[in-house]
Amino acid sequence: MIAQGAALRAPVARRTHTLVVGSGAGGAVVAHALATAGVETVVVEEGGHFLGRDMTQRDDEMLPALYRSAGQQLTRDGLVNVLQGSCYGGSTVINAADCEPTPAPVYEHWRLHHGLALDPGEIAASQARVFAMLGVRPIEAEQVNRNNALPMDGARSLGWRTGTFLHNREGCIGSGYCMIGCAYDAKKGAHLNYLPRAVEAGADVYTDVRIERIVPRSGGGFLASGFVVERGPLTPRLPFEVQAERIVLAAGAVHSPAILDASGLARDLPALGRNVSLQPQLPVAALFPDSVDVVAWRGIPQSTYCSEFDANTREHGLGGFRFEPLSVGVAQLASNLGGFGADHKALMAQLRHAAMALLLVPDAPSGHLAWTRGERGFTASIDYTPTPEWAQRLRQGLRVVADAYFEAGAREVRPASDVFEPLCGRRDLARADSFPIRSGVTRLISAHVQGSCRMGTDPRGSVVDLEHQVHGVPGLYVVDASVFPTSASTHTMIPVMTFADRAARRMLARGV
Ligand SMILES: Cc1cc2nc3c(=O)[nH]c(=O)nc-3n(C[C@H](O)[C@H](O)[C@H](O)COP(=O)(O)OP(=O)(O)OC[C@H]3O[C@@H](n4cnc5c(N)ncnc54)[C@H](O)[C@@H]3O)c2cc1C
Ligand code: SF4
Repeated sequence: MIAQGAALRAPVARRTHTLVVGSGAGGAVVAHALATAGVETVVVEEGGHFLGRDMTQRDDEMLPALYRSAGQQLTRDGLVNVLQGSCYGGSTVINAADCEPTPAPVYEHWRLHHGLALDPGEIAASQARVFAMLGVRPIEAEQVNRNNALPMDGARSLGWRTGTFLHNREGCIGSGYCMIGCAYDAKKGAHLNYLPRAVEAGADVYTDVRIERIVPRSGGGFLASGFVVERGPLTPRLPFEVQAERIVLAAGAVHSPAILDASGLARDLPALGRNVSLQPQLPVAALFPDSVDVVAWRGIPQSTYCSEFDANTREHGLGGFRFEPLSVGVAQLASNLGGFGADHKALMAQLRHAAMALLLVPDAPSGHLAWTRGERGFTASIDYTPTPEWAQRLRQGLRVVADAYFEAGAREVRPASDVFEPLCGRRDLARADSFPIRSGVTRLISAHVQGSCRMGTDPRGSVVDLEHQVHGVPGLYVVDASVFPTSASTHTMIPVMTFADRAARRMLARGV
């Protein structure tokens, strides 16, 4: 059964064996595995229920419908826009569908430095099940649009390694709207596979319901409470509570720790809300001559990457940088082209000839979170200062992206900053070394917030153990992007789902 909040007319009080809070990459996979094994399972999701038929392809309607804070959740200083989905299926509904496993050196780093003695065979089996459920396949050469092809042509001509992503699409017509929801149900997010199959197996899903607090019960198990909320403003409509033997928090890296904090369940866990990685990305636009029609807003948004400068090592787990073209809607392209007034208008007139890429630079887990709770739920304060070493890699990366664009014939390269003069040819490349990384003048985005409930063996430095169970609170688990000890250093859907599949199977194997 799927119950949407608007259909609920009276307070809800449920009992179940397992309550899953959040229906995104982590929650959907756990709910499916438990429900198909016959465990009575309830899933609650703060966001609304949307399928292809509800996706209008309009930024002004879909950003508020599908994203946390309508896609405007900024770090405290405004430097990074931290994007997260908030709907049935979570961020898998609005992501770019790139399917990338956690790199082996990152697992090795986690083993060496964070005590994550994970069995590679078990991880491989979980990942294989995830790939099969999502229908992961290569993006075909004819599906690569010009926005994605041009800088890769440049990179290859410079002798650099490039590749084409795997993805979880089937029947894609290349409309280009992935990041505001696929109207054709071609992008196979969790709302189209794990969740409906969990429901078929007997799970009950409530959308438009926010859990705010969890209290252990004296006889065992927990009472989770919150509200059915008004879709949009997220204000409370009706009380909602669930008695459960087990709770799986999968509310994402910003909100799972908020619920633990509000419930006072992690008082003795100093790592709660700390060690946050944002893996910030710098949007870089490029203008090509009038003879080159890029039409960046059509086609699969992100299909290629240049990995020549990846530097994952077992010692550091992260490093280097990667650049990945990204086609976005006209509104987002416009905001990244920069300029004001007449200058901006002149740029917009050249939109057909504009390309865009993201420079992805894995970071050290240097952020931390705090929350206030109000009528509309939790508001997070995300404190994040990039390290100087990261800033240096970003500037190095900017020089590389610009070089690839110039090699491909671009006449101007514009990183997302309101004060940085465009690079107008290779003679300007050295200026990338002085690119300002400051709030107010630079726009960074993060689609990969991680950390905050770090996995580890020592409660003094981590929040969950290797089974995903919160230290000292049997029966309470966190299964989402918050458990990564450091950045997975790649796109995070497959890493989260792989961990979630493993976590659920371990719960089942232990019979808890
Ligand atoms: C724009 C964008 C593009 C991306 N592109 C890619 C990509 O191409 N490839 C890739 O691998 N990864 C991508 N990612 C990242 C990936 O989708 C996420 O890392 C992953 O989905 C995170 O999984 P999660 O379970 O931690 O959280 P989510 O999938 O975000 O799910 C968390 C859910 O919990 C709900 N929730 C929060 N608080 C509560 C509460 N109190 N009560 C009830 N429910 C609650 C939220 O509404 C949300 O739906 C992208 C992300 C974004 C935002
Ligand atoms: S590009 Fe493909 S997957 Fe993305 S919204 Fe269009 S049809 Fe859907």
